Amino acid sequence: MLDLADAGGVAAACGAWRRDGNSIALVPTMGNLHAGHLALVDRARVLAERVVVSLYVNPTQFGANEDLASYPRTPVEDLAALRAAGVDLVYRPAEAEIYPRGPARAFGVRVPSAYADTLCGTFRPGHFDGVASVVLRLLLQVRPDVAVFGEKDYQQLLVIRRLVADLRLAVDIEGVPVIREPDGLAMSSRNRYLTAAQRRQAPALYRALVAAADALAAGQVPDEVSRRGVETIAAAGLRPQYFEVRGADDLVPAPAAGQALRVLVAAHAGTTRLIDNIAVPPHPRALANGVDVTEN
Ligand code: AMP
Repeated sequence: MLDLADAGGVAAACGAWRRDGNSIALVPTMGNLHAGHLALVDRARVLAERVVVSLYVNPTQFGANEDLASYPRTPVEDLAALRAAGVDLVYRPAEAEIYPRGPARAFGVRVPSAYADTLCGTFRPGHFDGVASVVLRLLLQVRPDVAVFGEKDYQQLLVIRRLVADLRLAVDIEGVPVIREPDGLAMSSRNRYLTAAQRRQAPALYRALVAAADALAAGQVPDEVSRRGVETIAAAGLRPQYFEVRGADDLVPAPAAGQALRVLVAAHAGTTRLIDNIAVPPHPRALANGVDVTEN
């Protein structure tokens, strides 16, 4: 397994693989790897002959009061896990490889308001601009055939899909379902911040999502489902930021009847911010916020 810190070395290695006719999959991560990340690696290995994993805690996607400094960094364990998973190249860029003149003087991507100023973006201004900017840089440096992202960060996945479509980048974007702990909590590097008591409260998020998906499948109105979700999470001792039913393809608040839905949640357990989401298949008697459009 190659372990490289410079963009030139990555370009050379990937260029040689391409010339040999090998396809390349990229899995961007911030490290502190868990089974969720490794599911992306497994998918990447199926999709391409060569797998590149980047480990980079991207400063431009953290807000001023967020956890950039304390974000868990475990490079020794990460490298061992990636070696065992059969990864071909780990890219651990030095900051100057991603932001040559520093993050403050970097060119960046502005994510359109429709995707950036809703859900997580409302609470994390500039976050998706930072995500899109670093992912674009990684895509340009590695030039993969496919890049693999988790549905855990569902809004991020949608932003990346739109970025790639809008800039007509020649890369496929692959989404992988959320990997969970046995009690339903979505795996996350930030779960390690939870106290024992908060860890016991946290699976309430997933339980509320499952209940919401069931209610929607039974034809309940999205507004009512959201209201109940917020209540359930608050009753479990968490502090909800949002609990929303959105169109799965575009995250619009009042999706057209018959469209697949996604329920998305963000909440704090103490100072730790947790996010999760769940798919809801289209209901045969689909209701768009109470209006049954299938019965006339
Ligand atoms: P991060 O290191 O948190 O930036 O995550 C890197 C990638 O792993 C992103 O595409 C995430 O969506 C994905 N990911 C993180 N946690 C999970 C999980 N529990 N299940 C699936 N994918 C995940």
